[in-house]
Amino acid sequence: MNHKIGQPELLKEINRSRAFEILKRTRILSRPELAQQTGLSRATIALLMDDLLRVGVAQHVGLGDSTGGRPPALLEFNPNAAFALGAAMLDHEWRIVLTNLDAQVVHRLDAPIPGSNPESAVEALQIGVQAALGRIERGRLLPAIGLGTPGLVDMPSGVIKAAVDVGWYEVPIRAMTEAALGLQCLVANRSKVGALAEHWYGASKGLEELIYISIGTGVAAGIVHAGELFMGVNSSAGELGHVTVLPDGPPCRCGNRGCLQQLVSEPAIADRARTRLREQPNSQLWTLVGHHPERVTAALVFAAAEQGDELANEIVDETARYLGIAIANLVNLFNPARIVLGGPVGQLSKGMLPLVLDEVRKRALSYPLSAVQIAPSSLGPDANAIGAAALVLRRASELIFAEK
Ligand SMILES: [Zn+2]
Repeated sequence: MNHKIGQPELLKEINRSRAFEILKRTRILSRPELAQQTGLSRATIALLMDDLLRVGVAQHVGLGDSTGGRPPALLEFNPNAAFALGAAMLDHEWRIVLTNLDAQVVHRLDAPIPGSNPESAVEALQIGVQAALGRIERGRLLPAIGLGTPGLVDMPSGVIKAAVDVGWYEVPIRAMTEAALGLQCLVANRSKVGALAEHWYGASKGLEELIYISIGTGVAAGIVHAGELFMGVNSSAGELGHVTVLPDGPPCRCGNRGCLQQLVSEPAIADRARTRLREQPNSQLWTLVGHHPERVTAALVFAAAEQGDELANEIVDETARYLGIAIANLVNLFNPARIVLGGPVGQLSKGMLPLVLDEVRKRALSYPLSAVQIAPSSLGPDANAIGAAALVLRRASELIFAEK
């Protein structure tokens, strides 16, 4: 047992956090109802509610029904009492969001990262965060920032151990961010925070077994198992992008060949289309890129496929097939309730989804297959940044009183 539990301040914080969570979930309730739900004395509840009223998390909204005596005052949860800051590092920019206590985005902005080293990324973050903070009263910011970064992140130390795609190794991103922003920093891999966002706030809210696959310049999965992020022994679980799908496929920066990432990521889709474009002079892609093959992007390939272009459809079919193989393996290995496709390619996946499902049906075992839903993310392009903010929101009750 934790010997600190007996300390009055810690006990108060634990009780206040419970009261906060119950009020947030119930939205409106009276002090006697809160006392009943927590099992705490009315005197303790009165003190805790005074704290929540003082910081604006609770506010008075009239009187409840009388049970004989004086009708009890009703208290309502105010989601706009404080705001959380989250930032996800995407290709060459940070997507920064400010959310309220319900994880609703109240402001978003993109901060371009001019260079390719960690210093320029932190500098860009600092500029973006300053701009974002102009939108709220500074006193209402929970004094922390959540980051979703590429690569393998050691969460306890906040160090990016290896981000192969951007060539970063042993980057103390948490320490750098804390020094630059003067805010406590919580950091995790961007796909893992995407999974948290889906689990806590997306269409998959509350699902205990969930896998979020982020497909953009890289590919990775965040695995939620038993309601918690599945991390592995050194935070490396979920590196789906480096699972072999085609044994003699294209080489990958990780040293392997035929990794999923080399077949379904945005650059992989664009590269495949570019290579074949020269053999297909009638493809609509030529028009879409103004006869400049170097302008081919994954988004244009999906757009051409929707218009019925043969070459683009071939590429989308292959992408769906490779993705389907990987997803069937996930279904068999993890038996999830839902697999969510996120990131830029995940957002584009609606048209491709039936093809992905066909491939999954061919390869997954029918019993786990019968329990899984496969769908694009409901949170859209903000998913990773909301997940990063969620790292802060998880500690909202503690942070809100940190400086008050
Ligand atoms: Zn690889």
